[in-house]
Amino acid sequence: MSGFVFSEKPIEIASGDGVFVHDTNGTEYLDFGASYACTPVGHCHPEVVDAATSQLEDLLYVQASYPHAARTALYERLAEVAPVDVGKVWLCNSGTEANEAALKFARSATGREKIVATTQGFHGRTMGALATTWKDKYKKPFGPLIDGVEFVPYGDGEAMREAVDDETAGVILEPLQGEGGINPVPTEYLQTVRVATATSGAALILDEIQTGLGRTGSLWAADRHDVVPDILTTAKGLGSGLPIGATLCRDWIAADAGDHGSTFSGGPVVSAAAVATLDVIKREGLPAHAAEVGSYLRGEVERRLGDDVRDVRGDGLMIGIEVKRGSNRLLRDLAIEHRILALPAGRTVLRLLPPLTVEREHADRVVDALVEVMA
Ligand code: PLP
Repeated sequence: MSGFVFSEKPIEIASGDGVFVHDTNGTEYLDFGASYACTPVGHCHPEVVDAATSQLEDLLYVQASYPHAARTALYERLAEVAPVDVGKVWLCNSGTEANEAALKFARSATGREKIVATTQGFHGRTMGALATTWKDKYKKPFGPLIDGVEFVPYGDGEAMREAVDDETAGVILEPLQGEGGINPVPTEYLQTVRVATATSGAALILDEIQTGLGRTGSLWAADRHDVVPDILTTAKGLGSGLPIGATLCRDWIAADAGDHGSTFSGGPVVSAAAVATLDVIKREGLPAHAAEVGSYLRGEVERRLGDDVRDVRGDGLMIGIEVKRGSNRLLRDLAIEHRILALPAGRTVLRLLPPLTVEREHADRVVDALVEVMA
């Protein structure tokens, strides 16, 4: 018997502590994948564990229509740190649900149907979010998905200007694509998208599910590009590994968001964990730390591996190394021979998304190992 997993690994992880995880034999691994960016403050950060544990003892769940201190604190914390003037926050359990809500809200607030998405984009696996995801491999067996989605090449401002019209409800994109291969875009492009959506009255939805919470060197990637979206989605590391997603909406979206709900919307335990996670990120200055260590790591990869790889790209601690052959063997050798866990992004890109608490010494260990596995 097995569950539905993308690709089962031959290592059984039993515990985690900061930037390390341990398997059932007690072997320690340096975690440069963070289970797809789910542990920004490191594994089992004591403040997050304490917040969740003490909440567990009081109340596991109460429906969102009853105010609860932990949930209210999370609404407030998210509004404080958001790059948008938040009218309302929708809490859910995953990234795909956060995007699903964003697409629904964009449609109901504008009364329009068309959604513009980008090539190589990834927004989740439920029917709406999946329809805005680019690669066929995720979509093929599940159609028909929702209608009304048009794709434009990621990074092409002119194509975006042409696609966004007075029938467009929203544009959804990642400010730096993750799953699609770690593809950054210039600020000018994102600002073009902002102007095109504002001019047509469409909602700009920034999917910061992978880029957010300090990963790219600022709390949100939007901050560095000086772009204010109408809707911002976050998930992954928000609960330090407990399942939570959030859709942050400006007033004009919130005012006409329609009837949307979920039984599990911002439970007390995940909310307490998320508040603690946000507090640690802020207090420990993790976005700036990610910028500093990320730029060192990227520089070292370029210096020591520049001739052996096709490209190195990304911001902060969201780094993609495009290799000349497939990344599978490299990932296996890193894990088995060097006890370092990392991720793929497509077939030829090795993706590094460590906890934001990693230090230069950890970056050195990864670069040393990469030099060996690529030799
Ligand atoms: N959006 C982006 C940018 C993602 O990277 C992901 C997951 O990888 C999602 C959405 C979907 O999130 P989840 O897997 O929590 O549904």
